[in-house]
Amino acid sequence: QETIDKIAAGEVVERPASVAKELIENSIDAGATAISVEIKGGGIEYLRITDNGVGIEKDQIPVAFLRHSTSKIKDAEDLNNVHSLGFRGEALSSISAVSKVELITKTKDNLLGASYIIEGAKEVSLSDVGAPDGTTFIIRQLFYNTPARKKFLKAESTEGSYVFDVVEHLALSHPEISFKLIINGKEKLMTSGNGSLSDTIYQIYGRQIAANILDISYEDELFSITGYIGLSVIARGNRAFEHFFVNDRYIKSNNLSRACEEGYYGFLMGHQYPFFVLNIDCIDGAVDVNVHPTKQEVRFENESKVCEILTKAINSRLRRRED
Ligand code: ADP
Ligand code: MG
Repeated sequence: QETIDKIAAGEVVERPASVAKELIENSIDAGATAISVEIKGGGIEYLRITDNGVGIEKDQIPVAFLRHSTSKIKDAEDLNNVHSLGFRGEALSSISAVSKVELITKTKDNLLGASYIIEGAKEVSLSDVGAPDGTTFIIRQLFYNTPARKKFLKAESTEGSYVFDVVEHLALSHPEISFKLIINGKEKLMTSGNGSLSDTIYQIYGRQIAANILDISYEDELFSITGYIGLSVIARGNRAFEHFFVNDRYIKSNNLSRACEEGYYGFLMGHQYPFFVLNIDCIDGAVDVNVHPTKQEVRFENESKVCEILTKAINSRLRRRED
């Protein structure tokens, strides 16, 4: 079982950023309205996620760390209709197989919380403890027992920047949740969780970008596109400021990016890339999010149509602004 968990961990847990993503998505699924993330040493030495969600009952804790244990799917039918972010029940077992995990959690119906320690898939202790409502995970020494995997990690600063990207993307796709990220004791990102995407953009990127955005909205019977496109040119020569969220999931797509850049035709010079945050919401069946647990990819029923609409929507919005 231990070996199987270690192998399975390779699927879900590639680096600190993937641990952060899985745990934050669990916090979101738990109904949290405030999530704070703290890392030290690139998240390899120390990674903490604290939420104010529903918490976990003491007797459910060991169960939650078993492989394929999830409270989110009741039967196979549900697999075709996945709305919660996590759905495979692999994150906690995988993370605990390759790190030292401390969990403190309390539900609002209990007077006391519980503290659980599990290291390399081996349970160390489970005890009562005073705690606020919600859940804190502390992950220490990621890959301490799989040195081969640890070798594939990059410099601490690079791993830390990947964690930043994860928090940035989740904050953008959840303006209704307050996010805070602390790296080596310094606050690097903070959003209010007031529900406004434009406020969230301001809080993450500052005035420069937030003062120059246009709202986008499109809707037909299959999907809708909402969000903001930037007018200020991003000097950085890559697509890091192009954000797509398909049914709330951050994704990358060269085809969608190209379609959007085409919409900017006449507004950008060569090698310039725009800033945008676009939410593409599809009805069930129009998109397949179940391509791979960690890959930032989706498959559209009709991708060329999505691309065509993106180009048109962006171009007409930019022209409308010129009038
Ligand atoms: P999944 O998210 O696919 O269900 P995980 O391994 O990520 O699987 O989590 C296992 C279970 O642990 C979840 O189904 C949930 O019941 C519980 N859990 C994990 N994190 C939290 C959290 N932050 N708050 C409340 N419950 C949690
Ligand atoms: Mg999960």
